[in-house]
Amino acid sequence: MPHASFKANEQRLWQEALSDLITDPKELLMLLDLDPALLDAALRAARAFPLKVPRGFVTRIEKGNPFDPLLKQILPLDIELQATPGYVADPLQEAQVNPVPGLLHKYHGRVLVTLTSACAVHCRYCFRRHFPYEDNNPGTNGWERIFAYIRQDDSVSEVILSGGDPLAVSDKRLKLFTDQLSRIPHVKRLRIHTRLPVVLPERITDECIDWLTQIKLAPVMVIHVNHPNEISHDVREAMLTLRNARVPLFNQTVLLKGVNDEANTLAALSEALFAAGVMPYYLHVLDRVQGAAHFDMTLCKAREIHAELGNKLPGYLVPRLVCEEPGMPSKTLLATPVL
Ligand SMILES: *Cc1c(COP(=O)(O)O)cnc(C)c1O
Ligand code: SF4
Repeated sequence: MPHASFKANEQRLWQEALSDLITDPKELLMLLDLDPALLDAALRAARAFPLKVPRGFVTRIEKGNPFDPLLKQILPLDIELQATPGYVADPLQEAQVNPVPGLLHKYHGRVLVTLTSACAVHCRYCFRRHFPYEDNNPGTNGWERIFAYIRQDDSVSEVILSGGDPLAVSDKRLKLFTDQLSRIPHVKRLRIHTRLPVVLPERITDECIDWLTQIKLAPVMVIHVNHPNEISHDVREAMLTLRNARVPLFNQTVLLKGVNDEANTLAALSEALFAAGVMPYYLHVLDRVQGAAHFDMTLCKAREIHAELGNKLPGYLVPRLVCEEPGMPSKTLLATPVL
């Protein structure tokens, strides 16, 4: 059992890393030996959706390569500012399934709760880039309405903590939330959707593991990796720690032009995930959010890549190709399941 001061130190380390993100496009370009001519556009686009990236993630980006698949996920570009017909601020029309602030109830048996608007990284393709978090970000005072909503609907057996990034919240606060949540008898599972263990693996502290092992709900974690280069040694170690704590691990990926739109890349991603103890879950086609159109491709192309992926891998390593359509009872499967 690690000493208390060791745990305090671990907490301090990830929280410091989280408050020391790279947010200045100039610094990013300098660190990566990139053309300073990219700066003006990056500054303009960052005004609409700021640059944010942990230093550790940046070390996985190849210096001097403007086409690096990790760089493309985080570098603000002018093209984001072009309005494209069909790409909107709220592609999923989430406002319609938002019965109380901080809670979305879209699918049977599962509610999605956002405890924070903070993320450790700003992914340029994110469909929440225009999300009105400020109005929808319950403080501890708002929790009671969330619990009351879940309490009155006994079909809810799973609570999904999502983003922002729930692991941007401290372990103490997470524990406070789940201690109260686990008093509702029909809630059985706690799912955590997070990108933090990938972009900032030091987040998986002993205290976090204690929380997940002692919790009275069955935990499930869904991480978010788009490219095999994101899976560093430290990420593998963090995954191993979670696995040793018996947390089932899944991954979701967004299919992104210029990042992972080749079957070989996605196959390498599945292999790397499996080696880290993570099962591929979803391959999402892009939500048509304003500012992300340059990552998009036709559904036909997406299906083609997915079919090719299915020809390369055992069925259990092929993620389900899905999209989200407002008003549907589940995510829409875009390809015949290979399983
Ligand atoms: C994706 C999503 C879920 C979870 O769906 P699964 O198919 O169970 O992974 C739940 N609620 C919302 C609002 C979602 O967008
Ligand atoms: S971590 Fe998730 S919620 Fe945050 S910007 Fe990236 S995709 Fe969006």
